[in-house]
Amino acid sequence: MKISGRTNITGIFGYPVEHTLSPSMHNAAFESIGLDYCYVPFLVHPDNLADAVRSVKALTMTGVNVTVPHKEKVMPLLDEINEEASFIGAVNTIVNSGEKLVGYNTDGRGFMQSLSENGVEVKDKDVVIIGAGGAARAIGYYLCRDAGRLSVHGRSREKVGKLVEDLKRLEKSVSALDDISDIERFQIVINATPLGLKENDALPFNPELLKEEQVVCDLIYGTTPLLVEAAKKGCVTVDGLGMLLWQGVLAFELWTGKRPPVEVMRNALRGSIK
Ligand code: NAP
Repeated sequence: MKISGRTNITGIFGYPVEHTLSPSMHNAAFESIGLDYCYVPFLVHPDNLADAVRSVKALTMTGVNVTVPHKEKVMPLLDEINEEASFIGAVNTIVNSGEKLVGYNTDGRGFMQSLSENGVEVKDKDVVIIGAGGAARAIGYYLCRDAGRLSVHGRSREKVGKLVEDLKRLEKSVSALDDISDIERFQIVINATPLGLKENDALPFNPELLKEEQVVCDLIYGTTPLLVEAAKKGCVTVDGLGMLLWQGVLAFELWTGKRPPVEVMRNALRGSIK
């Protein structure tokens, strides 16, 4: 990669940021199609977020991704937020138009694209999301309208209740699910909790209850313990790598106005997973 006075700068603000896989996929894509862009990880302490956001304009950067713990706190610092990110209450992509910093959230659409490329059709299906945090909200925004029925289960009744109430404003067929013991009645089951990230984590539900024809998704990328058990039961499994890839593809399009080389990005991601 050759950096010059004309290179367009993109990147990611996070804290921590050292484990991010996004630089590998974006830089590989820029290079592959000869775009004069680069993508840099920035370690931004929460106390410095406002300064960092101001620097996007001051340094004439093209835009940045925003990750944990800044996705919500960045919102009041922007000039404009699109409708989807406003509903989700979190921004993962900022575009610098020159005059304005505009916030987007590409996670939900990224997840739907990942389902689609795995041949998973949600129309008329009974879908359950486990978890009621930011990712559940991002995918719920699409699933509540595209699926037949959507249920949300989580350990905090209050959080689940708030998410269901908000989703119901978009589509009526959404409900809270208190008891997860009848998991076999859902055609698509999605883990949107971090359970599975750490070695000794419990599983989000008992996988013995799964049946062969079910689809089990984990937003965590890689071979998670839940997906291993679901595969043993003969379920179709989808991990979070596709969501990560497609949210990046959508951010790339917002920054460059160009369609990226998706397979280059996918291979770069796969290559950088340890
Ligand atoms: P979040 O906002 O912190 O929400 C996490 C949700 O999981 C909350 O509902 C939380 O419950 C629940 N939870 C946390 N620990 C739990 C436990 N031990 N038992 C039961 N429930 C638990 O996080 P998020 O941003 O939604 O992310 C959720 C997962 O999705 C993470 O693993 C993240 O890495 C993954 N993700 C993947 C992508 C991708 O591109 N593949 C994108 C975004 C997120 P409480 O509310 O009660 O704490």
